[in-house]
Amino acid sequence: MDIFNADLHIHSPHSIAVSKSLNFDNMIHTCKKKGLNILGTGDILQPKWLKYAESNLTKEPNGAFSYKGINFILQAEIEDRESVHEVVLFPDFSSVREVQEKLAPHSKNILDEWGGRARVNLSPSELVDIVTDAGALVGPAHAFTPFKSIFRQNKFQTLEACYQDAFKKVSFLELGLSANTNLADRLDCLKNITFLSNSDAHSEGPRALGREFNKLDLDNPTFEEIQLALVRKGGRKVTLNVGLHPKLGKYYNMFCNKCRRRIIFEKLKNQSEIVLNQFFITEDFITYRANNYEKAKIEYINQVSKNKMTCPACNEELNKKVKIKLGVRERIEIISQHKVPKHPDHRPPYINAIPLVDIIRSVKNIKSTNSKIVSKIYDTMIEKLGDEFSILVDIPIDEIKKKEEHVAEIIRAFRNDEIQYTPGGGGTYGEIKLEV
Ligand SMILES: [Zn+2]
Ligand SMILES: [Zn+2]
Repeated sequence: MDIFNADLHIHSPHSIAVSKSLNFDNMIHTCKKKGLNILGTGDILQPKWLKYAESNLTKEPNGAFSYKGINFILQAEIEDRESVHEVVLFPDFSSVREVQEKLAPHSKNILDEWGGRARVNLSPSELVDIVTDAGALVGPAHAFTPFKSIFRQNKFQTLEACYQDAFKKVSFLELGLSANTNLADRLDCLKNITFLSNSDAHSEGPRALGREFNKLDLDNPTFEEIQLALVRKGGRKVTLNVGLHPKLGKYYNMFCNKCRRRIIFEKLKNQSEIVLNQFFITEDFITYRANNYEKAKIEYINQVSKNKMTCPACNEELNKKVKIKLGVRERIEIISQHKVPKHPDHRPPYINAIPLVDIIRSVKNIKSTNSKIVSKIYDTMIEKLGDEFSILVDIPIDEIKKKEEHVAEIIRAFRNDEIQYTPGGGGTYGEIKLEV
């Protein structure tokens, strides 16, 4: 048995808002820096991307598809009639074609230039039936995000409610960038399902590709072996989930649906003051301050959940009543059964990671996400020390210190879970709070 690092959900230039330069050559360049061995192809149902994959991937003697040393799993994301996104993994090209043919009559865009993330007019259970009949694997994508997910506000609360009789055919659940195992294992209905942590990358850079991935114990990097790992048979399994710290995800915190400000609760600094629901508005946040802020927050979340809370900023600025929406954190608070996570025995550990590029950006105080200085430091570190994941998790801090002292200090703090975060929400990524 070998260990493989796999990121099983990405996209192609045929989905909206995806980098035009996302292609296999650019992907494998990043895979090598990150230490990724298996990658989803993204958008395999889109005709042009399917043709591109078919003409570039080689079938190895062990049955795996590969491109210049990196293994690929044929993969797509589909949106069903309930606007729930599902990740689908296919065993081979004939199964992709079979599903494409069966879905085409139910989809306006699957064969289009921009049909990368196909939308089908089928219920979640009908979709699951069709793809599993063709031998593919399926599970809900970014399961808790406020948009296009199974557990979003006012939508489903269990897998069974969504997939009905087909729920037993669902073989994994993708946590999404704003959730981790500690949050997801507060739901009783998820105790039997395997979690995947995938990047959902829209570009090939090291901040996107592999920002979430899974460590798998497999004999070979093939679909059949991954299938065994997801059902935890024959010693194959997911041994580790690695993903962004949920607070760094862009849907962690509740937010206004229009101005996208995040709603934060803080303790009043002066203990003797008794002011409830005093708030102040900044460009990105609406901060409520109260003596008993924990209690005030819970009451507030309950009201948001009933669609009863509107944004004070939009009220002031636009004289409009705009609803506040729950983030991943608060939605889980509402639909969970356990106050603390209840991990089943099969659940692997989860590492809350920060992309190395973002650590470098914070240390150098560079806001730009495509800074040449940052990429240069990143590349030098990879060249001198090893792949990104080894730098973040395995390589001794003293070794890293010799190359980049301040970066090493943040990695040390990150390994000891001492980092403070400004939580993301409403489509904005969270950030590391640095006191250096
Ligand atoms: Zn999606
Ligand atoms: Zn607003």
